[in-house]
Amino acid sequence: MIFLTDHLKILNTYRLEEKKIWLSPPHMGGNELKYIQDAFDSNWISQYGLNIDEFEKKIEDYLGSNSFVTALSSGTAAIHLALKLLNVGENDFVICQSFTFVASANPILYEKAIPVFIDSEASTWNMCPNALEDAVKYCLQQGKKPKAIITVSLYGMPFMVDEILEISRRYEIPIIEDSAEALGSQYKNKLCGTFGDLSIISFNGNKIITTSGGGILISRTSFDKTRALYLATQAKENKDYYHHSEIGYNYRMSNISAGIGIGQLEVLEDRIQRRRNNHDFYQSVLKDFDEIKLFEEPNEDFFSNYWLNTVTIEGNNCIITKEKLKKIFSENNIETRYLWKPMHFQPLYKKYKFFGRDLSGTLFGSGLCLPSGSDLTDEDKDKIMDILMKIKI
Ligand SMILES: *Cc1c(COP(=O)(O)O)cnc(C)c1O
Repeated sequence: MIFLTDHLKILNTYRLEEKKIWLSPPHMGGNELKYIQDAFDSNWISQYGLNIDEFEKKIEDYLGSNSFVTALSSGTAAIHLALKLLNVGENDFVICQSFTFVASANPILYEKAIPVFIDSEASTWNMCPNALEDAVKYCLQQGKKPKAIITVSLYGMPFMVDEILEISRRYEIPIIEDSAEALGSQYKNKLCGTFGDLSIISFNGNKIITTSGGGILISRTSFDKTRALYLATQAKENKDYYHHSEIGYNYRMSNISAGIGIGQLEVLEDRIQRRRNNHDFYQSVLKDFDEIKLFEEPNEDFFSNYWLNTVTIEGNNCIITKEKLKKIFSENNIETRYLWKPMHFQPLYKKYKFFGRDLSGTLFGSGLCLPSGSDLTDEDKDKIMDILMKIKI
């Protein structure tokens, strides 16, 4: 019942007269309906059609060589298929960043494998290389090499790519790169989505661009793409009758969704620029705040799409808390969100091993995501600034 009332509340806010400032709403480019119309005109409404082919091709071109893209129904489905491609099965260890959205970890349990969670480091809030190595050693002591390492580029910030990849190579454990939030982000001028042995990106409604719901799996070989496509379409074998030797899934993206995706790709650069402009705005407003600290790129190697701007509230005798800040925004019809609650604190996952010092827990305790949509107007920014300035006094 709690869920139902939550949904009703959301519906009611849609009906409010006053404009609500959302955290990260969908932002259409204008041509999406044209591509949907093409799908209708050709009557390719379902899981085959030109939009899907073109969407995949366009992202392959964007990511560059050695990227084979399979369009799927969600980012979660992409992570699941990545685990399947790496033959993850019952009782295998899979290492995963703890500070993330639950979808990074859930597919591990779909396969009855055992997650091992890793803390964040302070510069990117992503996987800590030292804790990762401790976890790998632990798994080896148990007599089992982990089957995969799931890294995340949270809020659009790339993880410590060089350090993590070095460990992955040294121990020969493949990386599944969860770049659900990081389309367009770069590390040392290379795009997120190109670092993993397998990588995923999400096009859920709240992400930097959307297909209404959807995701992609990015593989390094056409062989892996062929297998992903096969698993995503019920593992139907190439015969003139329905023949199946293994479990498959209904995970393919629809031609309608792909049409939305093509329209959105046309405005991707603009959306990245706008989100980065939002970051500049928060930087200028928050520069004189002692207690509210904006999360930023650690150095020039990192280029974030700043999918979400996040702050932590620091200092020993803070008057303001994340709860108070959230409440003030909410009273002014502005949506904010707490940071992801780490997996090792989730009832679903707390029985599993965790490596690190619990920086992610501290971040969860003190952080808040601020409105970061690419459609944020100057008026919206003025309103947000007024609220922040009132708090300062
Ligand atoms: C959104 C998200 C996912 C899941 O993507 P869906 O398309 O919603 O299934 C996975 N990991 C992270 C970090 C995400 O933010």
